[in-house]
Amino acid sequence: MTLYSMKMRASREENGLSQHISGAEKILSEAELGDNAAALLSRALHHAKGRADFINLKIEATTPEEIAYIEALPVATVDVANAAEGQQTILKYLSQLGIPNGAAIMRQFSHTYEMRGAMLLDVDTLERLEPDPARGLRATYMDAEHTPARQAGDCKNHFQEAIVLASKVVSAPHIVAEICMSDDPDYVTGYVAAPSIGYVRITRLKAMGCPDGGRIFLYCGPRKEVPACIEYLEKQKVLVRHVPVNPGKAPLTDSWQPLKDDLTMRRSAQLYRTIKTLQTPQRAQVKSDGQDLLMLASNSYLGLSDEPRVKAAAIEAVARYGAGSGGSRLTTGTLPLHNALEAELASFKNANAALLFNTGYMANVGILSALGTPGSIIFSDELNHASIIDGCRLSHARTIVYRHNDMADLEAKIQAAAPTHGLIVSDAVFSMDGDIADLPGILQLAKKYHLLSMVDEAHATGVIGATGHGIVEHFGLPKNPDVLMGTMSKALASEGGFVCGSQLLIDYLRNTARSFIFSTSLAPAPLAAAQAALTILRTEPQRVQRLQENTRTFCAALAENGIQTKASSAIVPIIIGDEGRAMRIAQKLYDCGIFLTAIRYPTVAQDSARLRAAIMATHTTAELQDAAGTIAAAIQSVPIKK
Ligand SMILES: *Cc1c(COP(=O)(O)O)cnc(C)c1O
Repeated sequence: MTLYSMKMRASREENGLSQHISGAEKILSEAELGDNAAALLSRALHHAKGRADFINLKIEATTPEEIAYIEALPVATVDVANAAEGQQTILKYLSQLGIPNGAAIMRQFSHTYEMRGAMLLDVDTLERLEPDPARGLRATYMDAEHTPARQAGDCKNHFQEAIVLASKVVSAPHIVAEICMSDDPDYVTGYVAAPSIGYVRITRLKAMGCPDGGRIFLYCGPRKEVPACIEYLEKQKVLVRHVPVNPGKAPLTDSWQPLKDDLTMRRSAQLYRTIKTLQTPQRAQVKSDGQDLLMLASNSYLGLSDEPRVKAAAIEAVARYGAGSGGSRLTTGTLPLHNALEAELASFKNANAALLFNTGYMANVGILSALGTPGSIIFSDELNHASIIDGCRLSHARTIVYRHNDMADLEAKIQAAAPTHGLIVSDAVFSMDGDIADLPGILQLAKKYHLLSMVDEAHATGVIGATGHGIVEHFGLPKNPDVLMGTMSKALASEGGFVCGSQLLIDYLRNTARSFIFSTSLAPAPLAAAQAALTILRTEPQRVQRLQENTRTFCAALAENGIQTKASSAIVPIIIGDEGRAMRIAQKLYDCGIFLTAIRYPTVAQDSARLRAAIMATHTTAELQDAAGTIAAAIQSVPIKK
C-alpha cells in the first residue's frame, strides 16, 4: 500500500519577520489524507500564537520499502520539585549512560534556544556537528504507526509527537541520547531519552513562563559516520509502533484499585448500597431478618402478588408448561401464554397490538433504541426513569432533555432543534415524585410538530384512572399516545414489560428491538400470574378505588402530623434533603417496624433525598394512620446535621 508523507509548516509575517506558528508531520494512508489535511489546516489557522498567513502543506508518496518500523521507547516519569532538581536528574541519567561531562553538555543548552532544529553534539569533544548551527538539525519523516482507532482529530498530541521524535532520534546511528526542553512557556516538562533508559519524562526542567527551550542530540562515534547519522535523522521515513497515548499511566499494580476507590467514595458520601431480604411475600405486613414490619415501600400496589388466584395461576402454568421458556420469542420461546397476554394487554389499553419484554427496563431500552433512528431526536423529561435514559443512550438519536413536565420548555426546545422526525417520551407517573405527566400537553405538541409520543405507565397501570386503566383514563383522553409502555412488575404483581400501540409499531419492534430479539422469553409462571392479575384488575376495580382512598388517608394523616405531601398517585414522597439524614431516618423507622426506603442520589438529584412511601390497596386505615405518626416522630428525632 502506498503511504504518504504529509508535512505542514505554518508561519506569519510580523514586522517584516516570519514567525513560526505551527508545524507537524504525518505518514498516512490515502484514506487518511483528507481528514488529516483538514485537521492540520485548522490547527494552523486557529493557533494560540496567531493565525498563520502562510501555510505550506507538502504531500509526498512513499513506498512501503522506504519505511523503517521501530518500537516506541518505554516511558517513565520522574517527578521533581523544581527546575534545579530536574537538571540534576538529567545529569544523573547522563552519568548512568556513561557520558562523562554532563555538566558541560547542559551548559550548551542555552545555545539551542534560538534554533528551530536541534544541536548535534559530540559527547567526547563537545564539538557541534550540525552543518547549519543557526538553524540546527531537524529530525523529520516520522509518525506513530496507525491504528484503526486513531483519528485525524488526535493529530495534536504533544506527548505522542515527542515519543515519536525521541524514538527515531535515539535509533539513529551513533546517537547515544537526546535531551529536550520545550520552548512553550507553559510547558515545563522535558525529557532525556536513550535506548537503554527509554523516554524519561522530567516534570520540571524550567520555571513556569520561561520561553527557553531546545534539544540536543548526543553523538558518540567516528566523525566519518556523522553524515550517515544526519541522513537518517533528516531523510529516513520511520513509523513508530506502540506509541502510548498518555504519559505516566503506568499499569496499576492492583487492577481492583479503581473499584475499591469507587466504593470508598460511595461509603463516605452515604451512597453505598446494600440489600435487605424479605422472608414473606409482598404484603402489608412482612418479615425481614426476623423482624415484623409494616411494608410502605412495595410497588405491589394492589396487593396482588400475594393474591391466591394469582399464585394458583402461576403454579398451574408451571405444571402445564414447565419452569422455563427455553428460547427467545423468535425461536422456540413462544407459548400460548405469551400470545394470550399480549392480546389481553392490548385490549386493556385500547390498543391494536402489544409486545411483551422480559422487564420494563428491557422494554424501554428496546423500544427507544429501536425508535431512535439516526437523524431523529428524542425529547425526554429530565425526571424520566433510568431505563428511558439508557434507551436514549443506546439509540442513534440525539437526545434533548426538557425541564420536568414543562410544556413551554419542551416546545421551545422542539422549535430550537427543528427535528425532521422524533419522539417525546415521559414517565406517566414519575417514579420518585409520584406526579403525573401533562399528557394532554405532550400529545398536543407531538401533533403540532409531527413527533411520536410515548409514555411509561410503570406506576400508572392499576393505579390512576378511576378503574386503573392508566394515564389515558386519568385525563379522559379520546386517543392513546403512539407508544404506551408498561410493566407487569408493579400493580400487576408479576414481572415483565410490555408495549401497546399500532400493529405497525409492534411489527417494527418485533423486528428491531434488540432486547426483545436477543433474550430468552418470559417463563410460564410470571405470564400466568400477570394474566390473572390483569383479570382481577378488570373485574374488581374497587381495588383501585381502595388504593386511591388509602393514599388520601395516608396524606391526610401525615398532614395532621405536620408533614405536607403531594400525592397524585400511590407514591408519596417525603422530602428530607440530606442523604445521610434520610438514611438515618429510614433506619430509625426500620427499627420502629416500618419498611420505608430512602431514595438517594443518583436515583434522585443530590440533596433531594427522600423517604418514598408506596401505598397498597391492602393497607388498613389504622396501619396508615399509625405509620404517619411514627414517621413524623422519626423525622423530628433525627437532627438536621449530625
Ligand atoms: C420500575 C420501572 C421501570 C422498570 O420496570 P421493571 O419491570 O421493574 O424492569 C420502568 N419505568 C419506570 C417508570 C419504572 O418505575
